[in-house]
Formats: sequence, C-alpha cells, structure tokens
Amino acid sequence: MRDLLALVDRPEVISFAGGLPAPELFDVDGWRAAFDAALTGPAARRHLQYAATEGDLRLRGHLAARMTAWGLPSQAGDVLVTTGSQQGLTLVAAALLEPGATVVVEEPTYLAALQCFGMAGARVVAVASDADGVDPDALAEVFARERPALLYLVPTFANPTGKTLSARRRERVAELAERYGVWIVEDDPYGELRYRGDALAPVASYGERVVFLGSLSKIGAPGLRLGWVRTPSALRAALVIAKQAADLHTSTIDQAAAAHYLAVADLDGHVARLRVAYRERRDTMLGLLPQVLPAGATWTDPDGGMFVWVRLPGEVDTAAVLPVALAHDVAFVPGAPFFAVRADRATLRLSFSSSTPERIVEGMRRLGVALGSGSSALPSTALPTALPTVLSAGNRT
Ligand code: PMP
Repeated sequence: MRDLLALVDRPEVISFAGGLPAPELFDVDGWRAAFDAALTGPAARRHLQYAATEGDLRLRGHLAARMTAWGLPSQAGDVLVTTGSQQGLTLVAAALLEPGATVVVEEPTYLAALQCFGMAGARVVAVASDADGVDPDALAEVFARERPALLYLVPTFANPTGKTLSARRRERVAELAERYGVWIVEDDPYGELRYRGDALAPVASYGERVVFLGSLSKIGAPGLRLGWVRTPSALRAALVIAKQAADLHTSTIDQAAAAHYLAVADLDGHVARLRVAYRERRDTMLGLLPQVLPAGATWTDPDGGMFVWVRLPGEVDTAAVLPVALAHDVAFVPGAPFFAVRADRATLRLSFSSSTPERIVEGMRRLGVALGSGSSALPSTALPTALPTVLSAGNRT
C-alpha cells in the first residue's frame, strides 16, 4: 500500500487519499511570528534547552483551557504534551498493554492505531457499530466476554468513516468502561472541524476511565508534531515515564512557539475559517458522489472532519480499482487496511480537506471515469496493462 500510495505524489494526480490539512490555509505568518517571539529576549536560550518531560507549563495551561471550553474541565497539570497525538497513542499502549492484552476497536478504524496496538503485542477485537458510532449493547457483551484492557475510539468525525458517537451513547460507553474496569482512549484530532450541528462534550467528560488525546495537527499544522494526552491521575506517572523513555520531551522551541501562538493568535478565528473552507469542500464532494459512484454505492455524510467513507456495490476489491484510478490521475485509499478483523474490500476512503473545490470537481470527474460511472462493478480487464509492473506484488494481494 505504501508503494502504491507513492504514485499518488505525482503532481498530476488529484489525491483524495491522504488525510492532510490544506497547506494554503496554514497560518504561516502567525507561526513565523510565534517562532520569532520564542527566539527573542532572555527566554530564547531556555527555549533551546532540554526541558521537563510533561511539557511547557504555559502551553499546558492553554490546552487545558481549550478542553475546558469543550466541556471537559481540565488543569495544566492534567496535560502531558506529546510529539503529535500519535505519540500519545504509543505512550498509552506502552503504559497499559501487556503483550497479549486485548484492545477493542470499532471497524473500520484509524490504521496507525491498529499498527500501534499490533506493535505492543495486543490482540485486537472488533465491536459492532452503526451510523451513531459504537453500539453500547454490543460493547457490553464484548467487555463481559473479552475483559479487555482498553477500548480505542475516534468518537468525533472518525478516521476513516467521518462518523460521530451520539451524546447518549457517549454517556453509556463511559459508564460501561467504569463498570467493567476498561480504559477508553478517546482520540480526538478532528473535533473542532465541525461543519454542521452542535458540539458534543467529549466522552472523557462522562467518566474517569478515559484518556483523551488531542492534537494541533488539524487546527494548527501537522508539521509541528504537537499533541497532548489528558492524563487521568491514576495513569499520570506511568505515561510520563513512558514519554521520558521515548524522547525525554517534545521539542522545547516548538512548544514555546505554540504557547506564544495560543496566547496571541486568534486560533478560534482561524478554526472558523477552516470550517468554512472545509465545509465547502465536503459539500462539493458529497454533491457529486451520486453522479460519480455506481448505482448501489453507499457513503457517509460526515458532520465534520476530513473523510467520506464509501462502499461500492457488489464484490469489487477497491485495491484493484486504485491502479485504474491512478491511471486516470486520481487517488483514494482502499478500505481493507482500516479493518482489524474482517475486511470489507469494497470500501474506500475519500478525503476532501486538501483539494480546492475546483480540484474536487475535476477529481470527482476523473473518479467517475475510472469507476465507469453507472456500471455496478469494474471488470478486471479495465486494469491498464502497464500498471502492474509499477506495482509491487505486495500491493496486489
Ligand atoms: N488519530 C487519528 C484518528 C488520526 O487521524 C491522526 C492523524 N491522521 C492521528 C491520530 C495522529 O495525529 P498527529 O498528527 O497529532 O500525530
């Protein structure tokens, strides 16, 4: 898959594959000013020095205030700054998972979380979900049967489906975690990117057994590699020790710049602009899907985030469709790798965030041609003969 997706980087390809924020919307001037401020005056040398594992106290205070505003009352002392929220996942796995421990996930779910649990030697079990997210009755059964160490959820605008766990279910899921003594990891990099409806309080606001992971990647910039863990007090020491063993601390200068940025920049105003731009991109993509996808295809209608999840009709394998799409200079991610247990190969993920509406229109047109719009399945003869030589064998299995 990695080799195949390398073909996506050709400039002529319109890619709906990567879950990237739009680079033209990065606040370059704001971040330049923030780094300049962090490297000016008497504190500059401290910002280039080793620092505390827990992170920059000012930054932790700003992040705690943001979570408090989302309905999750937090203090600076609750926050452990991480090198992206991806590191938060690694630290939680290190602190909570013995080899052979059981992790419960929704299917499909975030690919790199599955990799992280796999590397920790965990056994991954799937729980049923529907349009409102994970099914609490099914979850109660899985908890009783499997006695897992943790439940991993992306409850708001999930990667890859775009789905959101309803408010009622958030409460029930948090209760079940308390009752069965299971830790929940609430991974929330997309929560602020809402295009419709009212914000929901985090799952962590309903119970004590939730580790909330946040990120500046989607509202600031992913190249900063700044995320955080809101640490329940029972796990705090273990997570700090795991972080110390991993990288001592997250970049001091990056944290100082972010602390300055959060103090002086209008991040809420920036997020509001992101919402307007991404809403238009989502609407453009969703508006075209009925024309582009074959009859019988289904797709999600996300209230926020970056992704639409599609299921093609019939027995088609989207991994075999991707080379056809690439031959038409358009890309998506085949769905199978997002499944932990039983893959639905007819699925695929489309990201609308990093293409302008004009590019989305053209990319959708190309996708329609690649899918032979109107046909219910792709004949294997549609594969261009040149492409299989470009693709490694691993990508075609
Ligand atoms: N969790 C989910 C669900 C994601 O989609 C991503 C990024 N694609 C991450 C975590 C990692 O984000 P970060 O850049 O903060 O490490």
